[in-house]
Amino acid sequence: MNKKVVVIGWDGGTRQVVEEGITKGYLPTLKYLTQVGSYTNLKSTTPPATIPAWTSCFTGVNPGKHGYFDFAHLVSGTYSLKFTNSTYRKFSAVWNWLTKYGSNSIVIGVPGTYPPENISGIMVAGFDSPLSGKMTPERVHPRDLYQTVKKWSYGNINESVKRKHWHDETILNLLKRLNEKEEIVLQLLERCDWDLFITVFNESDTVSHHYWMFWDESSPRYIKSNYKDAIPLIYKKLDEILAKILKITEKKDVIFLVVSDHGFQPADKIAVHINNWLLYKGYLKYSSTNDFSIKIRDALLRFFSPAVASKIFYSYKHYAEKLESIIRFSGIDWNRTVAYSEELDYFPSIRINLKNREPMGIVPEEDYYEFVSHLCKELISIPYVKNAHFRESIYAGPYVDNAPDIILELSGENRSRASVLRARGGPIFEEITPNRYFGARGKGLNGQHHPEGILFISEKVDATEVKITDIAPTIASILKIPVPPLDGKPLMGEIIIDNEYQELLQEEESLSPYEEWLILRQMKELGYWQ
Ligand SMILES: [Zn+2]
Repeated sequence: MNKKVVVIGWDGGTRQVVEEGITKGYLPTLKYLTQVGSYTNLKSTTPPATIPAWTSCFTGVNPGKHGYFDFAHLVSGTYSLKFTNSTYRKFSAVWNWLTKYGSNSIVIGVPGTYPPENISGIMVAGFDSPLSGKMTPERVHPRDLYQTVKKWSYGNINESVKRKHWHDETILNLLKRLNEKEEIVLQLLERCDWDLFITVFNESDTVSHHYWMFWDESSPRYIKSNYKDAIPLIYKKLDEILAKILKITEKKDVIFLVVSDHGFQPADKIAVHINNWLLYKGYLKYSSTNDFSIKIRDALLRFFSPAVASKIFYSYKHYAEKLESIIRFSGIDWNRTVAYSEELDYFPSIRINLKNREPMGIVPEEDYYEFVSHLCKELISIPYVKNAHFRESIYAGPYVDNAPDIILELSGENRSRASVLRARGGPIFEEITPNRYFGARGKGLNGQHHPEGILFISEKVDATEVKITDIAPTIASILKIPVPPLDGKPLMGEIIIDNEYQELLQEEESLSPYEEWLILRQMKELGYWQ
Protein backbone atom coordinates (compact mmCIF):
# COMPACT_ATOMS: atom_id res chain seq x y z
CA MET A 1 0.00 0.00 0.00
CA ASN A 2 1.34 3.39 -0.96
CA LYS A 3 1.74 5.99 1.71
CA LYS A 4 -0.69 8.90 1.79
CA VAL A 5 -0.34 12.36 3.31
CA VAL A 6 -2.78 14.52 5.27
CA VAL A 7 -1.85 18.16 5.86
CA ILE A 8 -3.99 20.11 8.32
CA GLY A 9 -3.34 23.85 8.25
CA TRP A 10 -4.03 25.88 11.38
CA ASP A 11 -3.76 29.40 10.05
CA GLY A 12 -1.69 31.40 12.51
CA GLY A 13 -1.08 28.33 14.75
CA THR A 14 1.33 29.51 17.46
CA ARG A 15 3.98 27.84 19.53
CA GLN A 16 3.03 29.44 22.87
CA VAL A 17 -0.57 28.26 22.56
CA VAL A 18 0.14 24.69 21.45
CA GLU A 19 2.78 24.30 24.16
CA GLU A 20 0.35 25.52 26.81
CA GLY A 21 -2.33 23.19 25.39
CA ILE A 22 -0.03 20.18 25.48
CA THR A 23 1.12 20.94 29.03
CA LYS A 24 -2.33 21.68 30.41
CA GLY A 25 -3.86 18.76 28.54
CA TYR A 26 -6.39 20.49 26.29
CA LEU A 27 -4.60 19.45 23.07
CA PRO A 28 -4.29 15.66 23.52
CA THR A 29 -4.04 14.86 19.80
CA LEU A 30 -1.12 17.23 19.29
CA LYS A 31 0.48 15.69 22.37
CA TYR A 32 0.03 12.26 20.80
CA LEU A 33 1.74 13.52 17.60
CA THR A 34 4.73 14.73 19.64
CA GLN A 35 4.98 11.24 21.16
CA VAL A 36 4.83 9.26 17.94
CA GLY A 37 6.42 11.91 15.75
CA SER A 38 8.09 15.30 15.88
CA TYR A 39 7.28 18.89 16.71
CA THR A 40 9.22 21.99 15.72
CA ASN A 41 8.81 25.65 14.96
CA LEU A 42 8.48 26.64 11.33
CA LYS A 43 10.03 29.74 9.77
CA SER A 44 7.50 31.66 7.70
CA THR A 45 8.09 33.99 4.76
CA THR A 46 9.14 37.61 5.32
CA PRO A 47 6.78 39.25 6.02
CA PRO A 48 4.76 36.41 7.58
CA ALA A 49 1.63 37.20 5.58
CA THR A 50 -1.01 34.58 4.79
CA ILE A 51 -0.97 34.62 0.96
CA PRO A 52 2.79 34.39 0.32
CA ALA A 53 3.29 32.00 3.26
CA TRP A 54 0.69 29.38 2.25
CA THR A 55 1.78 29.70 -1.38
CA SER A 56 5.40 29.03 -0.37
CA CYS A 57 4.22 26.15 1.81
CA PHE A 58 2.62 24.29 -1.10
CA THR A 59 5.05 25.28 -3.89
CA GLY A 60 8.28 24.81 -1.94
CA VAL A 61 9.73 28.06 -3.28
CA ASN A 62 10.17 31.61 -2.00
CA PRO A 63 7.82 34.39 -3.17
CA GLY A 64 10.47 35.59 -5.67
CA LYS A 65 9.80 32.37 -7.60
CA HIS A 66 6.04 31.99 -7.18
CA GLY A 67 5.37 35.73 -7.51
CA TYR A 68 2.23 35.71 -5.34
CA PHE A 69 2.95 38.33 -2.69
CA ASP A 70 -0.38 39.74 -1.71
CA PHE A 71 -4.10 40.17 -2.39
CA ALA A 72 -3.31 43.05 -4.73
CA HIS A 73 -0.28 44.08 -6.71
CA LEU A 74 1.02 47.27 -8.23
CA VAL A 75 0.73 47.08 -12.01
CA SER A 76 4.22 47.71 -13.37
CA GLY A 77 4.71 51.13 -14.91
CA THR A 78 1.71 52.59 -13.07
CA TYR A 79 0.54 53.67 -9.64
CA SER A 80 -2.48 51.36 -10.00
CA LEU A 81 -3.37 48.27 -8.05
CA LYS A 82 -4.84 45.11 -9.42
CA PHE A 83 -6.44 42.37 -7.36
CA THR A 84 -4.57 39.12 -7.63
CA ASN A 85 -5.87 35.55 -7.64
CA SER A 86 -4.50 32.03 -8.01
CA THR A 87 -3.67 32.63 -11.70
CA TYR A 88 -0.95 35.06 -10.53
CA ARG A 89 0.96 32.18 -8.96
CA LYS A 90 3.90 31.47 -11.30
CA PHE A 91 5.08 28.19 -9.82
CA SER A 92 3.37 24.82 -9.71
CA ALA A 93 2.08 23.52 -6.39
CA VAL A 94 2.18 20.05 -4.91
CA TRP A 95 -1.34 19.28 -6.27
CA ASN A 96 -0.10 20.05 -9.83
CA TRP A 97 2.78 17.59 -9.43
CA LEU A 98 0.39 14.90 -8.25
CA THR A 99 -1.97 15.60 -11.14
CA LYS A 100 0.90 15.19 -13.60
CA TYR A 101 1.57 11.70 -12.26
CA GLY A 102 -2.08 10.69 -12.02
CA SER A 103 -2.44 10.95 -8.24
CA ASN A 104 -5.42 12.54 -6.51
CA SER A 105 -5.35 15.57 -4.20
CA ILE A 106 -8.16 17.00 -2.13
CA VAL A 107 -7.44 20.66 -1.35
CA ILE A 108 -9.96 22.48 0.84
CA GLY A 109 -9.79 26.08 1.98
CA VAL A 110 -6.16 26.92 1.16
CA PRO A 111 -5.79 30.73 0.94
CA GLY A 112 -4.90 31.95 -2.54
CA THR A 113 -6.56 29.13 -4.51
CA TYR A 114 -9.40 31.03 -6.21
CA PRO A 115 -10.22 30.37 -9.00
CA PRO A 116 -9.80 26.64 -8.26
CA GLU A 117 -7.56 24.64 -10.62
CA ASN A 118 -8.55 21.72 -12.78
CA ILE A 119 -6.56 19.22 -10.74
CA SER A 120 -6.90 15.50 -10.45
CA GLY A 121 -9.11 15.41 -7.36
CA ILE A 122 -11.02 18.15 -5.58
CA MET A 123 -10.28 21.82 -4.91
CA VAL A 124 -12.42 24.15 -2.82
CA ALA A 125 -11.01 27.68 -2.87
CA GLY A 126 -9.79 29.48 0.27
CA PHE A 127 -10.97 32.54 2.14
CA ASP A 128 -9.72 35.19 -0.27
CA SER A 129 -12.36 34.05 -2.72
CA PRO A 130 -14.60 36.74 -4.10
CA LEU A 131 -17.77 35.96 -2.26
CA SER A 132 -18.31 37.18 1.19
CA GLY A 133 -19.06 34.26 3.41
CA LYS A 134 -20.82 32.16 0.80
CA MET A 135 -19.64 29.16 -1.12
CA THR A 136 -20.59 29.16 -4.80
CA PRO A 137 -20.17 26.54 -7.52
CA GLU A 138 -17.41 28.68 -9.12
CA ARG A 139 -15.25 28.09 -6.08
CA VAL A 140 -15.47 24.33 -6.35
CA HIS A 141 -13.71 21.87 -8.63
CA PRO A 142 -15.46 19.75 -9.82
CA ARG A 143 -18.55 21.91 -9.70
CA ASP A 144 -20.95 19.08 -9.00
CA LEU A 145 -19.38 18.78 -5.56
CA TYR A 146 -20.88 22.13 -4.64
CA GLN A 147 -23.81 20.67 -2.67
CA THR A 148 -21.41 18.74 -0.42
CA VAL A 149 -19.23 21.73 0.46
CA LYS A 150 -21.65 24.64 0.32
CA LYS A 151 -21.59 25.15 4.10
CA TRP A 152 -17.84 25.94 4.07
CA SER A 153 -17.85 29.62 5.00
CA TYR A 154 -15.26 32.37 5.40
CA GLY A 155 -15.80 36.05 5.77
CA ASN A 156 -19.06 36.02 7.64
CA ILE A 157 -17.59 38.00 10.52
CA ASN A 158 -17.24 41.75 10.23
CA GLU A 159 -13.80 42.40 11.67
CA SER A 160 -13.70 46.13 10.94
CA VAL A 161 -16.59 47.25 13.08
CA LYS A 162 -16.97 45.99 16.62
CA ARG A 163 -20.42 46.45 18.01
CA LYS A 164 -21.68 45.49 21.45
CA HIS A 165 -21.36 41.73 22.19
CA TRP A 166 -19.00 41.37 19.22
CA HIS A 167 -16.60 39.14 21.16
CA ASP A 168 -19.39 36.88 22.47
CA GLU A 169 -20.97 36.47 19.06
CA THR A 170 -17.71 35.98 17.20
CA ILE A 171 -16.47 33.09 19.28
CA LEU A 172 -19.79 31.28 18.82
CA ASN A 173 -19.67 31.99 15.12
CA LEU A 174 -16.13 30.58 14.83
CA LEU A 175 -17.15 27.41 16.67
CA LYS A 176 -20.19 27.01 14.45
CA ARG A 177 -18.02 27.40 11.37
CA LEU A 178 -15.63 24.76 12.66
CA ASN A 179 -18.50 22.32 13.24
CA GLU A 180 -19.65 22.80 9.65
CA LYS A 181 -16.13 22.45 8.26
CA GLU A 182 -15.53 19.32 10.35
CA GLU A 183 -18.52 17.62 8.78
CA ILE A 184 -17.32 18.44 5.25
CA VAL A 185 -13.73 17.35 5.89
CA LEU A 186 -14.70 14.03 7.46
CA GLN A 187 -17.15 13.30 4.68
CA LEU A 188 -14.60 13.94 1.91
CA LEU A 189 -11.89 12.01 3.73
CA GLU A 190 -14.10 9.00 4.02
CA ARG A 191 -15.89 9.06 0.70
CA CYS A 192 -13.27 10.16 -1.81
CA ASP A 193 -10.18 8.65 -3.25
CA TRP A 194 -7.06 10.64 -2.39
CA ASP A 195 -3.30 10.39 -2.03
CA LEU A 196 -2.92 13.86 -0.56
CA PHE A 197 -5.51 15.61 1.60
CA ILE A 198 -4.95 19.26 2.49
CA THR A 199 -7.25 21.51 4.45
CA VAL A 200 -6.67 24.90 6.09
CA PHE A 201 -8.77 26.26 8.96
CA ASN A 202 -8.54 30.02 9.35
CA GLU A 203 -10.50 30.26 12.62
CA SER A 204 -7.23 30.02 14.58
CA ASP A 205 -6.02 33.18 12.80
CA THR A 206 -9.22 35.15 13.37
CA VAL A 207 -9.42 34.29 17.06
CA SER A 208 -5.76 35.23 17.59
CA HIS A 209 -6.09 38.63 15.92
CA HIS A 210 -8.97 39.62 18.18
CA TYR A 211 -8.52 37.78 21.50
CA TRP A 212 -4.73 37.75 21.94
CA MET A 213 -4.77 40.52 24.55
CA PHE A 214 -7.03 38.39 26.78
CA TRP A 215 -4.85 35.29 26.54
CA ASP A 216 -1.26 36.54 26.55
CA GLU A 217 -0.25 38.08 29.87
CA SER A 218 2.93 39.45 28.29
CA SER A 219 0.82 41.63 25.96
CA PRO A 220 1.21 45.36 26.64
CA ARG A 221 -2.57 45.50 26.10
CA TYR A 222 -3.34 42.54 28.43
CA ILE A 223 -6.71 42.71 30.14
CA LYS A 224 -7.99 40.11 32.57
CA SER A 225 -11.23 38.87 31.10
CA ASN A 226 -13.62 35.97 30.59
CA TYR A 227 -12.40 35.86 27.00
CA LYS A 228 -9.13 34.35 28.18
CA ASP A 229 -10.47 30.96 27.12
CA ALA A 230 -11.41 32.02 23.58
CA ILE A 231 -8.11 31.04 21.95
CA PRO A 232 -7.79 27.71 23.86
CA LEU A 233 -11.42 26.95 22.95
CA ILE A 234 -10.75 27.23 19.21
CA TYR A 235 -7.51 25.27 19.44
CA LYS A 236 -9.27 22.59 21.48
CA LYS A 237 -11.95 22.27 18.80
CA LEU A 238 -9.24 22.04 16.10
CA ASP A 239 -7.54 19.32 18.13
CA GLU A 240 -10.83 17.39 18.35
CA ILE A 241 -11.24 17.61 14.57
CA LEU A 242 -7.70 16.34 14.21
CA ALA A 243 -8.48 13.36 16.45
CA LYS A 244 -11.45 12.46 14.25
CA ILE A 245 -9.33 12.75 11.11
CA LEU A 246 -6.76 10.40 12.63
CA LYS A 247 -9.46 7.95 13.59
CA ILE A 248 -11.13 7.94 10.15
CA THR A 249 -7.83 7.33 8.36
CA GLU A 250 -6.37 4.82 10.82
CA LYS A 251 -6.64 1.90 8.39
CA LYS A 252 -4.66 3.78 5.76
CA ASP A 253 -0.90 4.23 5.74
CA VAL A 254 -0.96 7.97 6.35
CA ILE A 255 1.62 10.51 7.44
CA PHE A 256 0.06 13.56 9.16
CA LEU A 257 1.32 17.10 9.20
CA VAL A 258 -0.16 19.95 11.22
CA VAL A 259 1.22 23.18 9.83
CA SER A 260 0.77 26.90 10.36
CA ASP A 261 1.67 29.68 7.93
CA HIS A 262 2.92 31.97 10.73
CA GLY A 263 2.48 32.40 14.46
CA PHE A 264 1.14 35.21 16.60
CA GLN A 265 2.51 37.79 18.99
CA PRO A 266 0.95 40.64 20.95
CA ALA A 267 0.47 44.06 19.40
CA ASP A 268 2.22 46.87 21.23
CA LYS A 269 0.39 50.02 22.29
CA ILE A 270 2.36 51.95 19.71
CA ALA A 271 1.43 52.61 16.10
CA VAL A 272 4.03 53.75 13.56
CA HIS A 273 3.05 55.99 10.65
CA ILE A 274 5.73 55.25 8.05
CA ASN A 275 4.68 57.93 5.58
CA ASN A 276 4.86 60.55 8.33
CA TRP A 277 8.47 59.56 8.92
CA LEU A 278 9.18 59.79 5.16
CA LEU A 279 7.44 63.18 5.18
CA TYR A 280 9.49 64.37 8.16
CA LYS A 281 12.69 63.29 6.43
CA GLY A 282 11.65 65.06 3.22
CA TYR A 283 11.47 61.83 1.20
CA LEU A 284 7.76 62.20 0.60
CA LYS A 285 5.62 65.23 -0.24
CA TYR A 286 1.89 65.62 -0.47
CA SER A 287 0.16 67.92 -2.89
CA SER A 288 -3.30 67.40 -1.43
CA THR A 289 -5.07 64.99 0.82
CA ASN A 290 -7.77 62.73 -0.38
CA ASP A 291 -9.89 61.78 2.56
CA PHE A 292 -12.90 62.14 0.31
CA SER A 293 -12.09 58.92 -1.61
CA ILE A 294 -11.77 57.01 1.62
CA LYS A 295 -15.17 58.29 2.71
CA ILE A 296 -16.77 57.29 -0.59
CA ARG A 297 -15.33 53.81 -0.42
CA ASP A 298 -16.32 53.31 3.20
CA ALA A 299 -19.82 54.55 2.51
CA LEU A 300 -20.20 52.17 -0.42
CA LEU A 301 -18.97 49.25 1.61
CA ARG A 302 -21.10 50.04 4.58
CA PHE A 303 -24.42 51.19 3.29
CA PHE A 304 -25.20 49.59 -0.05
CA SER A 305 -26.52 46.10 -0.32
CA PRO A 306 -24.34 43.83 -2.47
CA ALA A 307 -27.00 43.88 -5.19
CA VAL A 308 -27.13 47.68 -5.43
CA ALA A 309 -23.40 48.08 -5.16
CA SER A 310 -22.80 45.45 -7.80
CA LYS A 311 -24.95 47.47 -10.22
CA ILE A 312 -22.86 50.54 -9.52
CA PHE A 313 -19.67 48.60 -10.03
CA TYR A 314 -20.88 46.91 -13.22
CA SER A 315 -21.04 50.35 -14.79
CA TYR A 316 -17.47 51.25 -13.81
CA LYS A 317 -14.96 48.67 -14.87
CA HIS A 318 -12.09 48.29 -12.40
CA TYR A 319 -13.66 50.90 -10.18
CA ALA A 320 -12.73 49.07 -7.01
CA GLU A 321 -9.06 48.93 -7.99
CA LYS A 322 -9.03 52.56 -8.98
CA LEU A 323 -10.60 53.63 -5.74
CA GLU A 324 -8.11 51.62 -3.72
CA SER A 325 -5.21 53.03 -5.77
CA ILE A 326 -6.49 56.54 -5.10
CA ILE A 327 -6.73 55.85 -1.39
CA ARG A 328 -3.22 54.49 -1.16
CA PHE A 329 -1.45 56.82 -3.54
CA SER A 330 -3.36 59.98 -4.37
CA GLY A 331 -2.28 63.26 -2.94
CA ILE A 332 1.35 62.16 -3.19
CA ASP A 333 3.34 64.72 -5.14
CA TRP A 334 5.25 62.29 -7.34
CA ASN A 335 7.58 64.97 -8.71
CA ARG A 336 8.97 65.52 -5.21
CA THR A 337 8.61 62.04 -3.66
CA VAL A 338 11.47 59.53 -3.64
CA ALA A 339 9.95 56.90 -1.32
CA TYR A 340 6.47 56.02 -0.08
CA SER A 341 4.65 53.32 1.84
CA GLU A 342 1.27 51.66 1.38
CA GLU A 343 1.23 51.42 5.20
CA LEU A 344 -0.16 47.88 5.27
CA ASP A 345 0.05 46.50 8.78
CA TYR A 346 0.44 42.88 7.61
CA PHE A 347 3.01 43.82 4.94
CA PRO A 348 5.05 46.81 6.22
CA SER A 349 7.10 48.03 3.30
CA ILE A 350 8.43 50.97 1.31
CA ARG A 351 8.54 51.60 -2.43
CA ILE A 352 11.05 53.79 -4.25
CA ASN A 353 9.74 56.22 -6.86
CA LEU A 354 12.23 55.06 -9.48
CA LYS A 355 12.84 56.79 -12.80
CA ASN A 356 11.89 54.71 -15.89
CA ARG A 357 9.94 52.29 -13.69
CA GLU A 358 7.28 54.43 -12.02
CA PRO A 359 5.43 56.77 -14.39
CA MET A 360 6.66 59.85 -12.52
CA GLY A 361 9.74 58.31 -10.97
CA ILE A 362 12.52 60.68 -9.92
CA VAL A 363 15.23 58.47 -8.35
CA PRO A 364 17.78 57.83 -11.15
CA GLU A 365 18.39 54.14 -11.83
CA GLU A 366 22.13 54.49 -11.18
CA ASP A 367 21.39 55.71 -7.63
CA TYR A 368 18.86 52.98 -6.82
CA TYR A 369 21.04 50.49 -4.88
CA GLU A 370 22.90 53.17 -2.96
CA PHE A 371 19.70 54.98 -2.02
CA VAL A 372 17.94 51.77 -0.92
CA SER A 373 20.89 50.82 1.23
CA HIS A 374 21.05 54.32 2.75
CA LEU A 375 17.31 54.25 3.47
CA CYS A 376 17.53 50.77 5.07
CA LYS A 377 20.27 52.05 7.42
CA GLU A 378 18.19 55.06 8.38
CA LEU A 379 15.08 52.95 8.89
CA ILE A 380 16.69 50.56 11.38
CA SER A 381 17.64 53.53 13.55
CA ILE A 382 13.93 54.35 14.04
CA PRO A 383 12.41 53.01 17.24
CA TYR A 384 10.18 49.94 16.66
CA VAL A 385 11.86 49.12 13.32
CA LYS A 386 13.76 45.90 13.98
CA ASN A 387 14.94 45.38 10.44
CA ALA A 388 14.71 46.84 6.95
CA HIS A 389 15.43 44.41 4.13
CA PHE A 390 16.19 45.21 0.53
CA ARG A 391 13.89 42.85 -1.39
CA GLU A 392 16.78 41.14 -3.20
CA SER A 393 18.29 40.13 0.15
CA ILE A 394 15.21 38.08 1.11
CA TYR A 395 13.72 36.92 -2.19
CA ALA A 396 15.33 35.28 -5.21
CA GLY A 397 13.78 34.43 -8.55
CA PRO A 398 12.23 35.96 -11.65
CA TYR A 399 9.38 37.69 -9.74
CA VAL A 400 11.31 39.60 -7.07
CA ASP A 401 10.20 42.77 -8.87
CA ASN A 402 6.62 42.10 -7.79
CA ALA A 403 7.65 42.95 -4.21
CA PRO A 404 7.98 46.42 -2.66
CA ASP A 405 11.64 47.61 -2.63
CA ILE A 406 12.07 47.51 1.16
CA ILE A 407 10.38 45.11 3.60
CA LEU A 408 10.24 46.15 7.26
CA GLU A 409 10.17 44.06 10.40
CA LEU A 410 8.80 45.75 13.50
CA SER A 411 9.42 45.23 17.19
CA GLY A 412 7.91 46.38 20.47
CA GLU A 413 7.90 45.96 24.21
CA ASN A 414 8.50 42.34 25.41
CA ARG A 415 7.44 39.98 22.64
CA SER A 416 5.08 42.53 21.10
CA ARG A 417 5.17 44.39 17.81
CA ALA A 418 4.16 47.94 16.96
CA SER A 419 1.36 48.32 14.40
CA VAL A 420 1.57 50.17 11.11
CA LEU A 421 -1.40 52.47 10.70
CA ARG A 422 -2.21 54.82 7.88
CA ALA A 423 -1.95 58.58 8.41
CA ARG A 424 -1.56 61.69 6.31
CA GLY A 425 0.66 64.05 8.24
CA GLY A 426 0.99 64.30 12.01
CA PRO A 427 3.24 62.43 14.42
CA ILE A 428 5.41 59.46 13.43
CA PHE A 429 4.41 57.47 16.53
CA GLU A 430 1.05 57.29 18.18
CA GLU A 431 0.16 55.72 21.48
CA ILE A 432 -2.97 53.63 21.20
CA THR A 433 -5.27 54.55 24.05
CA PRO A 434 -6.99 51.84 26.16
CA ASN A 435 -10.36 52.42 24.49
CA ARG A 436 -8.72 51.27 21.22
CA TYR A 437 -6.90 48.22 22.64
CA PHE A 438 -9.42 45.75 21.21
CA GLY A 439 -8.56 47.13 17.83
CA ALA A 440 -10.27 46.18 14.62
CA ARG A 441 -9.00 45.51 11.17
CA GLY A 442 -7.52 48.71 9.83
CA LYS A 443 -7.33 50.22 13.31
CA GLY A 444 -4.61 47.96 14.67
CA LEU A 445 -5.36 44.43 15.84
CA ASN A 446 -4.37 43.24 19.30
CA GLY A 447 -2.78 40.05 17.95
CA GLN A 448 -0.14 40.34 15.22
CA HIS A 449 1.48 37.82 12.89
CA HIS A 450 4.81 36.42 14.06
CA PRO A 451 7.43 34.92 11.71
CA GLU A 452 7.51 31.61 13.57
CA GLY A 453 4.77 29.05 12.95
CA ILE A 454 4.45 25.40 14.03
CA LEU A 455 4.91 21.97 12.50
CA PHE A 456 3.82 18.58 13.85
CA ILE A 457 4.60 15.47 11.83
CA SER A 458 3.61 11.92 12.73
CA GLU A 459 7.11 10.58 12.00
CA LYS A 460 10.37 10.95 13.84
CA VAL A 461 12.42 13.40 11.85
CA ASP A 462 15.55 15.33 12.58
CA ALA A 463 13.86 18.69 12.39
CA THR A 464 15.70 21.83 13.27
CA GLU A 465 15.56 25.15 11.40
CA VAL A 466 12.58 24.05 9.36
CA LYS A 467 11.29 26.54 6.79
CA ILE A 468 7.82 26.82 5.31
CA THR A 469 9.29 25.94 1.89
CA ASP A 470 10.30 22.52 3.30
CA ILE A 471 6.68 21.32 3.48
CA ALA A 472 6.02 20.75 -0.25
CA PRO A 473 9.28 18.76 -0.79
CA THR A 474 8.48 16.71 2.34
CA ILE A 475 5.08 15.77 0.89
CA ALA A 476 6.65 14.97 -2.50
CA SER A 477 9.31 12.79 -0.92
CA ILE A 478 6.73 10.77 1.05
CA LEU A 479 4.56 10.30 -2.05
CA LYS A 480 7.59 9.74 -4.30
CA ILE A 481 6.39 12.32 -6.82
CA PRO A 482 9.04 14.05 -9.01
CA VAL A 483 9.24 17.82 -8.49
CA PRO A 484 10.77 20.82 -10.24
CA PRO A 485 13.91 22.24 -8.54
CA LEU A 486 12.75 23.77 -5.21
CA ASP A 487 14.14 26.06 -2.51
CA GLY A 488 13.03 23.79 0.33
CA LYS A 489 14.38 20.44 1.46
CA PRO A 490 12.43 17.33 2.52
CA LEU A 491 12.39 16.55 6.25
CA MET A 492 12.54 12.86 5.46
CA GLY A 493 13.74 10.83 2.48
CA GLU A 494 14.85 12.31 -0.80
CA ILE A 495 13.08 14.18 -3.53
CA ILE A 496 13.25 13.20 -7.16
CA ILE A 497 14.10 16.33 -9.13
CA ASP A 498 12.60 16.64 -12.57
CA ASN A 499 14.91 19.16 -14.23
CA GLU A 500 12.78 19.07 -17.37
CA TYR A 501 9.63 20.11 -15.49
CA GLN A 502 7.67 22.57 -17.62
CA GLU A 503 5.78 25.19 -15.64
CA LEU A 504 2.38 25.60 -17.23
CA LEU A 505 1.82 29.27 -16.51
CA GLN A 506 -1.81 30.19 -16.34
CA GLU A 507 -2.94 33.28 -18.12
CA GLU A 508 -3.54 35.95 -15.50
CA GLU A 509 -7.27 36.06 -15.28
CA SER A 510 -8.85 39.38 -14.49
CA LEU A 511 -11.89 39.13 -12.33
CA SER A 512 -15.17 40.65 -13.41
CA PRO A 513 -15.97 44.07 -11.92
CA TYR A 514 -18.55 42.39 -9.73
CA GLU A 515 -16.05 39.83 -8.46
CA GLU A 516 -13.59 42.64 -7.81
CA TRP A 517 -16.14 44.48 -5.78
CA LEU A 518 -16.95 41.36 -3.81
CA ILE A 519 -13.28 40.85 -3.01
CA LEU A 520 -13.00 44.44 -1.91
CA ARG A 521 -15.99 44.05 0.38
CA GLN A 522 -14.69 40.75 1.71
CA MET A 523 -11.26 42.22 2.34
CA LYS A 524 -12.78 45.26 3.98
CA GLU A 525 -14.76 43.04 6.31
CA LEU A 526 -11.72 40.97 7.07
CA GLY A 527 -10.02 44.33 7.46
CA TYR A 528 -7.23 43.84 4.97
CA TRP A 529 -8.33 47.00 3.24
CA GLN A 530 -8.20 49.96 5.48
ZN1 LIG B 1 -2.32 33.37 8.10
